[in-house]
Parts: sequence; C-alpha cells; structure tokens
Amino acid sequence: MERIIMDWQRIRSDFPILDQQVNGHPLVYLDSAASSQKPRAVIDSLVRFYERDNANVHRALHELSNRATDAFESVRGKVARFIGAASEDEIIFTRGTTEGINLVANSWACANLKPGDVILTSSMEHHSGLVPWQLAAQRTGATLRHIPVLDDGTLDMDAFEKLLTPEVRLLSIVHISNSLGTINPVREMVARAKKTGAVTLVDAAQSTGHVPLNIADIGCDFLVFSGHKICAPTGIGVLYGRYSLLESMPPWHGGGEMILQVRLEASTYKPPPARFEAGTPDIAGVIGLGAAIDYLQAVGLENIEKHGLELASRALTRLDEIPGIRILGPKSGPRGSLVAFHAEWAHPHDLVEFANSHGIAMRGGHHCTQPLMKRFQVPGTTRASFYLYNTPEEIDRLAEVLAAARKFFA
Ligand code: PMP
Repeated sequence: MERIIMDWQRIRSDFPILDQQVNGHPLVYLDSAASSQKPRAVIDSLVRFYERDNANVHRALHELSNRATDAFESVRGKVARFIGAASEDEIIFTRGTTEGINLVANSWACANLKPGDVILTSSMEHHSGLVPWQLAAQRTGATLRHIPVLDDGTLDMDAFEKLLTPEVRLLSIVHISNSLGTINPVREMVARAKKTGAVTLVDAAQSTGHVPLNIADIGCDFLVFSGHKICAPTGIGVLYGRYSLLESMPPWHGGGEMILQVRLEASTYKPPPARFEAGTPDIAGVIGLGAAIDYLQAVGLENIEKHGLELASRALTRLDEIPGIRILGPKSGPRGSLVAFHAEWAHPHDLVEFANSHGIAMRGGHHCTQPLMKRFQVPGTTRASFYLYNTPEEIDRLAEVLAAARKFFA
C-alpha cells in the first residue's frame, strides 16, 4: 500500500492567522481545545456566500433564497455522513455543544423524567455537561449521580457499574475530556447503559474533527459538538438525535419555521429537524461548517488523529523533563490532543502570561471543569492543546519556554 507522508507545514500554511508575530515571536497557537483556527477554504466559503448567495433560507422562491437553502440543506447530509448518522433528518443545527445539551435537557429530560429517576454523568464533564442536568433535575425532581475519576485521570469503571441501576434514565458522558485528555470508552459505556434501558448522550466537543467518529459504532441516542472547535465559524454546532427519540420530543424554542400551523391559542409543529430549529438559523455558519468538514476529510481523520497523538506524546515527554511539572490525565496510551499540567513553581495565569510574552497561546484556569480541579486539588491548570496545524517544532518551543519560565519564577 502506498504510504502517504503528510506535509503538516503545508497544512499549517492553509491557516492565514498563524503567519504572524506575537510579542516579537512567531505565533505558536496551542489553544485549539478552546477554539480552533480556520483554514482559507472556510474563510473563502463565508466570503463567497455573502458576496454571491446571501438570503434567508426556506422562505422565498427567489433565486438567491433557493441557492442559500440548497447550500444550507446540503450541509445537513454532509454532517450526517461525517458522523455516520442514519439520516440527515437526525441532524439539528444548534449554536454549539452547550446549546445541544440544553436542548436535550429542556426537551427530552423535562418531558420524560420524574422523581426517582436518575441522570448519570461523570465528575470530568465540562460545565455544559453538568449545569443543564442540574437545572433539569431541579425541574423534574430527578436525582444526579456522578461517576468518579481515578488518580490516573480515567473513569472509575467499577463505580460506573454500581451506579448504573435501573433508575438511571439518562447517561451523559464526555468522549474526550477537555481538561485531562482522557478518552472515555463511550462505546462500551453506551452499550452497558442501553442494557438497563437508559438514553445516552455523548459530548463529542473534543473528539469530533480530531478522531474518526461513527454514530452507528458508538450507538448513542444523542451526540453533540461545536463547529468552532473543528475549523468552522463560531456560533454553529450540531445535535445528532436518534430519529425515533427526536420525533417523540416536544419543541424547546418556539418561533418561525418550526410550525405546521399557528392559531392564536396553540400551534402544531413540524417533524424533526425543523421542530428544533426555530427562527433564522446561522446560515453562513452552516456553510462554513460544510467547508470545514470538506477540509478535514481531505486531510483525513485518521491522519489528524495520528498527528494529534504524536504531538501530545512529544509534549508529555518534553514536559516530563521539566522539574516541578505535574501532568494531569493519562501519561501513556491513546489520549486526546492536549496536555494539561500544574507547575508547582507558578500559578497557571502567570505561566500563561509568560508564555504569551514569548508568542505562545495557551489557556490557564479551570477550563470549565471546577469539580475536576477540586478532585485533583489544583487551583487550575495550564493547558496546551493541539490541532492539525501544529508541528513538533512548536512542542519543542513550548518546552524551551516552559524551562525558561521555571528559571524566571523559581
Ligand atoms: N464540552 C466540552 C468537552 C468542551 O471542551 C466544550 C468547550 N470547551 C464544551 C462542552 C462547550 O462547548 P461550546 O462552548 O462550544 O458550547
């Protein structure tokens, strides 16, 4: 078989923003877990849309509206194929992961849960995988349970087995932790939860666009992700929902486009996905999402996954050489494309500022996972996160700057 050697420098040059100096140094962008950069192809797709095709969708019969509607709706099928959904009608456009989880919490959970029911999630969830369930529990009287995290940053699977009683109606679990890099065994967990009749949701904010994803393989009922983390614009995201479930769910937002008929007193609603997309959607965002998926698929998800793991492994090795750095999450084996650590000689905010003065963009703080920071007894961590445009040389530069930071702070 022909071996394809990826030219990651060439891929990097597809991202215009990376070609700049920050504080007198070449920019090293290591904050993709928060938000990714955009390739020229995505930026161009937005300009093209606004210059040639812009109009509202689904509403008019004029040429521009038809073009905008066709372009918008074609992305639904593209997303379905990208994540292995059975039908494009299972793809709902949202503002992002947060809105997707809130949609399920407000629609499915509020319509189905009652006192005595249990929502099972974990202690490593992003706040957007915790707070919507707290709100739903408060409204329905359901109880929350959390799978604990072991010292090595993996989930306590023995505890999971014990917590997964027949009262569990929903399992909501993060695929790749944004704070640890842990890859959770979502396929096995979903299969286990299905046996007890629970509905399952996977937060794929950090795995979509980083590893090949397949709904049919994972077997979950709901899956959510954000466009801005996979090279698409901000403001657009996806909720995948199994059609039979979506069909049974009441609308969450009311407004234009989600209705069949409106009377002054009451209305009837369209079937999914329209039922869950009230008002004018983020049309340009959807066009950009389509361009981002094309771009990622041209590079290849297997290639991106391999590159991400190589960068993370190199970072683990290089950071381990620096005294006083404690890495959180798995130290070996498969992991997400990020490394989070606590340096005993500097507060994460000071460290991030020091790195910034050397042109390196990282994130410091609790990363929207306060319970996890408490679990590991750290005020916060510094996180370096990688994507397809990062290079091994940038990891070496990170290690060099961190070594200098140690001298500076110590
Ligand atoms: N879940 C995880 C695992 C995340 O990393 C993030 C973003 N940091 C979110 C949910 C929330 O995503 P968004 O802010 O795009 O809605």
